[in-house]
Amino acid sequence: MTTSTDKINLLGLTRQEMEKFFDTLGEKRFRAGQAMKWIHHFGVDDFDAMTDFGKALRAKLKACAEIRGPEVVSEDISADGTRKWVVRVASGSCVETVYIPQGKRGTLCVSSQAGCALDCSFCSTGKQGFNSNLTAAEVIGQVWIANKSFGSIPATVDRAITNVVMMGMGEPLLNFDNVVSAMHLMMDDLGYGISKRRVTLSTSGVVPMIDELAKHIDVSLALSLHAPNDALRNELVPINKKYPLSVVLDSCLRYMSALGEKRVLTIEYTLLKDVNDQPEHAVEMIELLRNVPCKINLIPFNPFPHSGYERPSNNAIRRFQDALHHAGYNVTVRTTRGEDIDAACGQLVGQVMDRTRRSERYIAVRQLEADAEAVARTGSRP
Ligand code: SAH
Ligand code: SF4
Repeated sequence: MTTSTDKINLLGLTRQEMEKFFDTLGEKRFRAGQAMKWIHHFGVDDFDAMTDFGKALRAKLKACAEIRGPEVVSEDISADGTRKWVVRVASGSCVETVYIPQGKRGTLCVSSQAGCALDCSFCSTGKQGFNSNLTAAEVIGQVWIANKSFGSIPATVDRAITNVVMMGMGEPLLNFDNVVSAMHLMMDDLGYGISKRRVTLSTSGVVPMIDELAKHIDVSLALSLHAPNDALRNELVPINKKYPLSVVLDSCLRYMSALGEKRVLTIEYTLLKDVNDQPEHAVEMIELLRNVPCKINLIPFNPFPHSGYERPSNNAIRRFQDALHHAGYNVTVRTTRGEDIDAACGQLVGQVMDRTRRSERYIAVRQLEADAEAVARTGSRP
């Protein structure tokens, strides 16, 4: 399924691109909407199933186009309802997609790259180095595959997937065009119809691309902060040397004000024992974020072999959370889901990422989901 062909893959085309495609075929534009509904609402990958297209049009489409998702290597469903897919992309690498249900919400964690070039010191994806960018079809293909697995067609009724977070493998802003196209499809009524507040892009802080993002789309933004000062952040998140804290926070504020409505930045902060989890770090963070409308997600570190870091004790985590909370921030701590399927699939993904790293994906998603509807802050600021 991953072998590329010369055919145009319609799965990754935005509405505009699809209309252009039908234009160049000499067909009416409304065909674009019909095709998109078949593909995204009904999960169809066979032109013969598109019953409102005549035989001649179907033959024409078959000759030059295809609907091709990434190859599913494995699919697992946890006792708690968490689902996990390992998919192979055209470069031959595997990436992961995770679905977390919680109450009426269902959050899908989507990957944007195989590996990552940014080399954050505590991240095992970073340790793999960069392998490849996913195509738009491979990014939206993860949503397409997950959506089909629920069998509730059309997808727009009783949606299983209510939220998407770009928090799988890779730095989404370094695969900009493909990620933006895929996010447009997530939000398009002819795609998955997910509201802009429920699509979240998480970045380690690629400043020029944060500014660019505002010109293209209005999704929610999450910043991987991980340190309250430049010296420490330089160590943990090397891209900070290029775009230091004041610069990256300014760009996030610009992004949110460009959206022209009240929006809240999500701050992600992975807690590393004795590295960034001390009371003085909390104090610095309170000061740093004083003028940033945000909610904070603390992610206890998920250890992996030879990482050199440890997860803080529950007491230390609680102490850190309390300090921020008392200063008036909405702070949550992420917890794990779907560990049983994590274990079940251990060997299969061994070459892609170690077992602990896979758990981390669940952790990274769960609290975002819990927070998706939360207001910016509780209580007052000092
Ligand atoms: N590249 C993007 C999005 C993917 S990573 C980014 O960095 O924001 C999703 C989140 O998981 C990020 O906040 C990342 O820093 C965090 N993370 C990575 N490795 C982790 C680990 N071992 N334990 C806990 N969180 C981790
Ligand atoms: Fe890349 Fe994000 Fe991992 Fe950093 S934390 S190496 S940006 S995936």
